Amino acid sequence: MQRDALVDGHGRRIGDVRVSVTDRCNFRCQYCMPAEGLPWLDRDAVLTFEELTRLVGLLASMGVANVRLTGGEPLVRRDLPRLVGMLREVQGVEDLALTTNGYLLERDAAALVDAGVHRFNVSIDSLQQDRFYAMTRRDALPQVLRGLDALRAAGAGRIKVNAVALRGFTEQEVLPFAAFARERPFEVRFIEFMPLDADRAWKPEDVLTGAELRAIVEAEHGPLVEEEREPHATARVFRFADGAGRLGFVEPVSNPFCADCDRLRLTAEGALRTCLFSLRETDLRGPLRAGATDAELERLIRDAVWRKELKHRVNDPGFVQPERSMSAIGG
Ligand code: SAM
Ligand code: SF4
Repeated sequence: MQRDALVDGHGRRIGDVRVSVTDRCNFRCQYCMPAEGLPWLDRDAVLTFEELTRLVGLLASMGVANVRLTGGEPLVRRDLPRLVGMLREVQGVEDLALTTNGYLLERDAAALVDAGVHRFNVSIDSLQQDRFYAMTRRDALPQVLRGLDALRAAGAGRIKVNAVALRGFTEQEVLPFAAFARERPFEVRFIEFMPLDADRAWKPEDVLTGAELRAIVEAEHGPLVEEEREPHATARVFRFADGAGRLGFVEPVSNPFCADCDRLRLTAEGALRTCLFSLRETDLRGPLRAGATDAELERLIRDAVWRKELKHRVNDPGFVQPERSMSAIGG
């Protein structure tokens, strides 16, 4: 059943949902999780595949055609390819993507591609084993690189590599990543560090901006050529002048892209969030499990979306960091 488009109170049409399939993770990235981890949700608090599929179906019937699975680490959710297969069958879902730390890709890449994931983002913060370990607290770079190879061997479509950019760390990473992007068929994207770390250690001066990163690359490679921005894109994408390789820069802090944001987020326990930085969220699991009809769920979703934040307030005085950190939201 096709429903009216989902539109927020600022006239933005919603087309994208990030679905967290678990809050658990096998890494402990410095900018995301504490070394000891976080208190995990009970298993029965997490939405089942059937519940997730119903909610995604409802959203898709309102025009939310792009679905990205994330977490926590989505590959630690048992049977993830089965969920992908279920979502692929949902009418209205046009694009299925996955964000992963890559640790379990060697095991799962072929099953995920076969099940229907179109696009993959693999997070890698350093191409040097000791520095990768320092950032993720896991000595796992070779395993993750084997995961990337497994994705290619499985015939995965578009594969991107994501690196969080931190001052005092990423300056040394950017040129090796630039070389990697030129030699290998992966677009590398740098993401500015956001105040969503569980340790609440973020400071504005820790953000290494996209402009600073580009200056380092351009000093070595000459001017980069910016590509036209796709609607709703989070990244500014640049080509090297000779055509070999692309770099993306996600600049939520220095150059926010809220104006045409078309995204929603669904946490692992079924809370609908209209912004990464939302201070309130809408529980869908309670009504779902209490027997709500699709029409009742649709009303809850439309009401929440109507109040979607115009923009985030990271750069404003009095900014309040949300209670949930990145892994508990679903980045
Ligand atoms: N575990 C998977 C992974 O790391 O790709 C998926 C979930 S993770 C929360 C999604 C993305 O958020 C990753 O690319 C990660 O690097 C990024 N991220 C986590 N904390 C962040 C922060 N404080 N600022 C910016 N990006 C962050
Ligand atoms: Fe885990 Fe991803 Fe957070 Fe790293 S960024 S701790 S891999 S959820």
